[in-house]
Amino acid sequence: MTANTEKFLPHPTPVSRVYWDACRKHQLLIQHCGNCGQYQFYPRSFCTGCMAREPAWEQASGFGTVTTWTVVRRPVAEAYAADVPYVIALIKLDEGPVMMSQVNGCDADEVRSGLRVEVAFAAWSEQVTVPVFKPAGPAP
Ligand SMILES: [Zn+2]
Repeated sequence: MTANTEKFLPHPTPVSRVYWDACRKHQLLIQHCGNCGQYQFYPRSFCTGCMAREPAWEQASGFGTVTTWTVVRRPVAEAYAADVPYVIALIKLDEGPVMMSQVNGCDADEVRSGLRVEVAFAAWSEQVTVPVFKPAGPAP
């Protein structure tokens, strides 16, 4: 049996490729419907508010608030062994959508509901960069 030394990586689809390409450039894009004004994440080919096709891409502020979280202390695969303990959180972006992501840049025990966070990016391979979050600095 071979050890899993690579992290689980996303496989961009025709709909999500724009999002993943932007992550590699350290830009967090979310979709914004020109018909009803709803923001949404994850990427879809239609607006979940009004079913309009192909909502536009817009750069998010990158700021949000932790709503809930858990601390992962046992790695799910060998590739994550050096990362534990790490925090997986639900983060409500200032624009409204909720993302599941990691919160790092602080001690895992410092993460709380209501913690203000801002996006950072982590390269998990040459092809894939993922958004992660860290405690937010002073308000811009
Ligand atoms: Zn809409």
